[in-house]
Amino acid sequence: MSTPTSSAFDLDAFGRRHIGTSPSDHGLMLAELGYDSLDALMAAAVPTSIRMGEVLNSAIPAAATEREALAELAALAEQNTVRTSMIGLGYYGTVTPSVIQRNVLENPSWYTAYTPYQPEISQGRLEALINFQTMVTDLTGLDTANASMLDEGTAVVEGMLLARRASKSTSNRFIVDADALPQTLALLESRAEAVGIELVVADLVEETDVAAFGEHFGIFVQYPGASGRVWNPASVIAASKAQGGLAVVAADLLALALITSPGELGADVAVGTSQRFGVPMGFGGPHAGYMAVRTGLERQLPGRLVGVSKDAVGAPAYRLTLQAREQHIRREKATSNICTAQVLLAVMASMYAVYHGPRGIRHIAGSTAAKATALAEVLTGYGLTLAHDAYFDTIRVHVPGLAGNIVERARALGVNVWEAGDATVHVAVDETTTAEELSLVAQAFGLPERTEVAIETATLPAVASGELRRTSGYLEHPVFNTHHSETQMMRYLKTLADRDYALDRGMIPLGSCTMKLNAATEMQSVTWPEFANLHPFAPEADVVGTLGLIEQLETWLAEVTGYDTVSLQPNAGSQGELAGLLAIRGYHLANGDTERTVCLIPSSAHGTNAASAVLAGMRVVVVATDELGNVDLGDLRVKIAEHAESLAALMITYPSTHGVYEHEVKDITQAVHDAGGQVYVDGANLNALLGFARFGDFGGDVSHLNLHKTFCIPHGGGGPGVGPVAAKAHLAPYLPGHPMAQRADHSGGVTHDGGPVSAAPYGSPSILPISWAYVRMMGSEGLKQATASAVLAANFVASRLREHFPVLYTGENGLVAHECILDLRPLTAATGVTVDDVAKRLVDYGFHAPTMSFPVAGTLMVEPTESEDLAELERFIEAMVAIKAEADAVAAGEWPVDDNPLVNAPHTAESVIAGEWTHAYTREQAVYPVHSLVRGKYWVPVRRIDQAFGDRNLVCACPPVEAFA
Ligand SMILES: *Cc1c(COP(=O)(O)O)cnc(C)c1O
Repeated sequence: MSTPTSSAFDLDAFGRRHIGTSPSDHGLMLAELGYDSLDALMAAAVPTSIRMGEVLNSAIPAAATEREALAELAALAEQNTVRTSMIGLGYYGTVTPSVIQRNVLENPSWYTAYTPYQPEISQGRLEALINFQTMVTDLTGLDTANASMLDEGTAVVEGMLLARRASKSTSNRFIVDADALPQTLALLESRAEAVGIELVVADLVEETDVAAFGEHFGIFVQYPGASGRVWNPASVIAASKAQGGLAVVAADLLALALITSPGELGADVAVGTSQRFGVPMGFGGPHAGYMAVRTGLERQLPGRLVGVSKDAVGAPAYRLTLQAREQHIRREKATSNICTAQVLLAVMASMYAVYHGPRGIRHIAGSTAAKATALAEVLTGYGLTLAHDAYFDTIRVHVPGLAGNIVERARALGVNVWEAGDATVHVAVDETTTAEELSLVAQAFGLPERTEVAIETATLPAVASGELRRTSGYLEHPVFNTHHSETQMMRYLKTLADRDYALDRGMIPLGSCTMKLNAATEMQSVTWPEFANLHPFAPEADVVGTLGLIEQLETWLAEVTGYDTVSLQPNAGSQGELAGLLAIRGYHLANGDTERTVCLIPSSAHGTNAASAVLAGMRVVVVATDELGNVDLGDLRVKIAEHAESLAALMITYPSTHGVYEHEVKDITQAVHDAGGQVYVDGANLNALLGFARFGDFGGDVSHLNLHKTFCIPHGGGGPGVGPVAAKAHLAPYLPGHPMAQRADHSGGVTHDGGPVSAAPYGSPSILPISWAYVRMMGSEGLKQATASAVLAANFVASRLREHFPVLYTGENGLVAHECILDLRPLTAATGVTVDDVAKRLVDYGFHAPTMSFPVAGTLMVEPTESEDLAELERFIEAMVAIKAEADAVAAGEWPVDDNPLVNAPHTAESVIAGEWTHAYTREQAVYPVHSLVRGKYWVPVRRIDQAFGDRNLVCACPPVEAFA
């Protein structure tokens, strides 16, 4: 072949837009490092022992242009058939208000933001999230809600685990409502089994004799039931609590607008999903789950919790609160392994409540119930009988022997209803359901064509007027009663977005988080109805296009990681870890190795690793790291010998969490295999390896990847994510399956038969086109060039900053991988200036701080990624050098230790104009430390936030408006 190999830098190549630095920039940067080509740099950086050959990645087609990729996606979308879904079971049609779609979901100010760990530059999304928490506590009638959970099914599991932690009962028994959603039941079963919880699934009714179940630590109730049944669980809850249990209730937020809240019925914990608050079904996700608890349980909450604190001048400010519960601090003792959650979707759901307000939400709930009532009346009038007389949006119709026929007839008329056994058809209506669609459903049940189904919205439907009629108020805070015109809503969203720093303002060099470009073309198809409006349990024939996309993506990911099969089901990296460890567990059990439960984890590992191991029923044994940041081989051998009989797995991150390519990785994996253990390679740092080495080739048995890092799914302010789990063939049978999956088989022609880890069979499929488009438009050569460019950028930053801040760890040639750790401890010792001061001062310079104090306390970990251009890298370097000079000035006594631009950072506009200026430095030094800021300044809305105050004075709902006066 004489055609030259295509380059990611060709004029029509997408790679040229994705990679921020040009070939000529590379020349300058390589000269700084003393290499004459990217190839030479990578040859020196990546250990030869693990480098892959040249011919791999054959499964990935040559790079497509942006237009070609969109055309291919359109062709895949066309293979899907969007029927009206009346399947329900936790997923409903909903109208995404256009003002929310355009200004949140499609707005990079919202979708490219990071998790709000730096609260001063995250006040907008923190307010949106506290609105979410307030909405959830109001509707559930409980006291404190988090933001957010991954989906309803996993939220129920977290509720069960919370109940076990908080209950005084020593019993391992948990009582489960048989009328739970089927996917929830499947999740409960697999997750309970791993941690030794015994489930008792029971038909619960008001008269149930709860004492007959014996001692138990908790009870779970679905409200309304999966069957649509609305009943009063108060007596069952009270009886369970009387013997020491906690009550977990999964409740439909929309139904709660009409019926008594779980809190008022005695529940300790409420969980569920907020999907039907304006977030499309998306073939299963993503959307935000929720959890709320009664007072006294807030410290047990898993996931992230937004609270109110105050800043340095006493102004109210939001922040993530009670962080001490989280796995990056508590590790194996954390309340949960959840890290990335579903922030963008929680923001959308909260804004749906802000836009509609209490009257609007009540109206939507009332008309939904009215539609169900109208259909029920027509069907019963025709002589059919229903399974329950009290329902909200779902009716089950008794049709012995005819269920299959009716479902088929409805399908032919364009509506998917659910066959709940051969004698029962299940129909769920929603906000979008029309009278015409109800008429088609009636026709499917045998009524004459065009039977009129009159929706009566003037009178309250039965469910809203019966015994469970809701009498308490909700959404009374002004935020839910103000922004009801589109102009107001647009401006509210803009006001909040303006308070935040996202990738649309500048680089976010967060080590371990890979905040790279989320290209517009990649995002484009997420809202296409053919992808967005599919129910996760729709028949296979309706979702052929998405299944095809999934199969291709699975194949590509298997190829680039050197594994045999991939599951896209896990909804975050943490869930991929859990799925992979559960697969290892399943494998050992199948081999009769019931004793293999020890999981070795290096002390430097990401906190989710340890938390996930515990959830997989394993015992964590910590392995030391040496002074170079590598796994201490000596200690590893000692630990392996000590636990030889009980060794289940080693979890190792590659490149290491210190951003270094460890040369001994093959010896490490070999030692674990020799002892009969399995190797889990945490693949969150794949951006340093893609195209150059594969986990499967150097001894990995299973890995998770983070599509929201390496593969361009935006962080969304803290989610959504996708954490695919990839494995060798011997683990395939134990990867997550799902009782409702459209297909049993996966890439590699294998089936995955383990228990599910997500509520939906394919996790969050509606965002998979993002990663698909990235791979498709980069091609294997482009992916390689991205990796090399990312490694170059990190080494360039390390090289330029080295004389100002020691670079903590490097590999053999003095090179780092895709990130570098700047050691601030000498600076702190010499000047008193802390990592926190530098991070906050970076805000004044217009930057998001790098990762703080992970994996080493007192350091900053910088990951520029390949998407930043040279000018932005230079701007960051300039800021860091200037900040070093400021710290030196403090050390030299030019500025007092307690009054200088660093300790006072960040500076608001108000702080430099209000009153008399009494500081030792000037106003210009405060807010315009470099001149370029004069024309492009991000103005932080609050001063430095008092973290301890917020933990001591816990406020996790919208504060009174006067607080901000
Ligand atoms: C980000 C990360 C994780 C966790 O991923 P989530 O999607 O946030 O759950 C795990 N390990 C490493 C090394 C990471 O960087």
